[in-house]
Amino acid sequence: MPRAAFVYTDDYTDYHLSDTHPLQQKRLLMTHRLLDSYGAFQSPASHLVTPASATETDLLRVHSPEYLNALRRLSAGESVPDKKQFGFGTLDNPPFPGMWEASLLYAGGSLDCARLVMQGGFDAAFNTSGGLHHARHDRAAGFCTVADCPLVAYYLLDHGAKRVAYVDIDAHHGDGTQAFFYDDPRVLTLSIHETPESLYPRVSGFAEEIGEGAGLGFNANLPLAPGSGDAIYAEAFGSAFLPILEAFDPEYIILQVGADAHFADPLTHLGLTSRGWLGLAQSVIALGKPVIALGGGGYNLDTVARLWALLYGALCGQELAADLHDQSVPSAADRNDIFQQFYVKRRGTARGASIEDYARRSVEIVKQAVFPRHGLA
Ligand SMILES: [Zn+2]
Repeated sequence: MPRAAFVYTDDYTDYHLSDTHPLQQKRLLMTHRLLDSYGAFQSPASHLVTPASATETDLLRVHSPEYLNALRRLSAGESVPDKKQFGFGTLDNPPFPGMWEASLLYAGGSLDCARLVMQGGFDAAFNTSGGLHHARHDRAAGFCTVADCPLVAYYLLDHGAKRVAYVDIDAHHGDGTQAFFYDDPRVLTLSIHETPESLYPRVSGFAEEIGEGAGLGFNANLPLAPGSGDAIYAEAFGSAFLPILEAFDPEYIILQVGADAHFADPLTHLGLTSRGWLGLAQSVIALGKPVIALGGGGYNLDTVARLWALLYGALCGQELAADLHDQSVPSAADRNDIFQQFYVKRRGTARGASIEDYARRSVEIVKQAVFPRHGLA
């Protein structure tokens, strides 16, 4: 049975952007309680681990001193006149009291996952508070204050890893992580998401972005149309990403498991069910590499708790109850309505006249541009 760790503390709810913000970290508490109610921490192979906060020195691996200074001062209630330059003071990233301590704790939880897997003999570790994939070197973005995904990748590289894969199944493009490793062939960065034509971050996440310099061919994106469901996701992920992952043969996989590609998410326009979403994660776990799972988006709180509970079950080889899966799912007609409303009416059909066409185009671009760099036909 695989040995898995769930890194968690109730203090995770201290990352509180505002009462009305879509990101509500009560979902992390709900996930823990749900797993606990299923006895998920009773098995000898499953460990509940309390995270230790990262240090400022840890964060300097991925953030500028100026950014960290602004983060700390805003957290303490001081005024920072140029806060917009650092991504704060927007609706997405309102500064909040204790933001500094909460950010250190989140980053620490993700670093703990890296340590548990690299030195602690664990096959997998999951930090639900991590996966903050929009944060940049010098600014906060998209609800994210710390770049914990790059932090984990650098930790692994700094401690001897040669090849790390980052796989991002959040509904949004993992633009922050992509930016860190765009010219770095040591980190293969893969993101499958709703097309930026209809969703944040709007300007990146296209299939044509394949890395640059030494990193050319070590970055790939699969943008999918609004309404994309289980079959589209499985086909695109399986035919374009899994072959690259196998050829790259990473020593570690960082799996960003944003739960917002689920059909019930209020911020996105996708059609994945719990089974389809879990199937993507399981196909990565099945590669048999150590997995560091990091949370990410997810704005329907009940759905997030169910999906992440299912994921943790998969990571530690436990069969949690089937009632965690969706009880009803959208029809093909429902999904096509979403495609028409959120795509065709606004963008036309140049990149695809149907959900299937759109996915086919993305897969073809990745196959043509990225496959040859990995010896794939
Ligand atoms: Zn997201």
